[in-house]
Amino acid sequence: MEKRELLYEGKAKQVFLTDDPELIIIHYKDDASAYNNVKKATIEGKGQLNNQISAIIFKYLMEHGIPTHFVEQLNDRDQLCRRVKIFPMEVIVRNIIAGSMAKRLDIPEGTQPANTIIDLCYKKDELGDPLINNDHVVALGIASYEELDEILDMTRRINVLLTDLFKVLGIKLVDFKLEFGRTSDGKIVLADEISPDTSRLWDAETNEKLDKDRFRRDLGKVHEAYEEILRRLTK
Ligand code: UDP
Repeated sequence: MEKRELLYEGKAKQVFLTDDPELIIIHYKDDASAYNNVKKATIEGKGQLNNQISAIIFKYLMEHGIPTHFVEQLNDRDQLCRRVKIFPMEVIVRNIIAGSMAKRLDIPEGTQPANTIIDLCYKKDELGDPLINNDHVVALGIASYEELDEILDMTRRINVLLTDLFKVLGIKLVDFKLEFGRTSDGKIVLADEISPDTSRLWDAETNEKLDKDRFRRDLGKVHEAYEEILRRLTK
């Protein structure tokens, strides 16, 4: 597989074309950003950790019947994935209230809701990724109701699988963000990454934060927290 030109560069990853039009290479960087790019830093070794963590999680989900873009991990920082057209929408799952929802609705962080909450956000940096509803998704042409149903159904299955996986590792899956894409043959698949950059992971015993909030909130030991997640996933 030959790495060709850079197709896209995001905050934490680069996407390269390959000699196969159906495949891309995703390269994980050490850059971190928060609060819509206001806070930025480099966390030495984060790219390697997230590449491995996300690869393990995607393989687990695929083994349990979730279609994804993931093909294989190539090296420390690169993974081979199917090229997809990303639905410009973030699907956020909340099992415990934290972050923006805690703040916006003045709910203490750590509150256990009676149900699982799924938020949809329009992926548009200029607008700060605003919260939208199902009808907005269709009105904005992001997806049809049928496609959204399929995405939400897959999201609920992923939440059950990931909650189980992390529970065994002594970790509470507080919340996480998913992105979906469509392959050239029209299939909807899970894309992007699942890592401590895109989820909140709390130690089940101590509630210690083992995710990007350590960076966002200047709690220190960011790399150590990500390492701990990888250590438990590979145990
Ligand atoms: N999240 C993400 N990318 C985003 C926004 C949120 O990966 O652009 C993740 C975030 O890491 C957390 C969950 O989605 O695990 C919920 O984030 P929230 O809405 O609370 O926003 P934040 O606190 O990150 O501003």
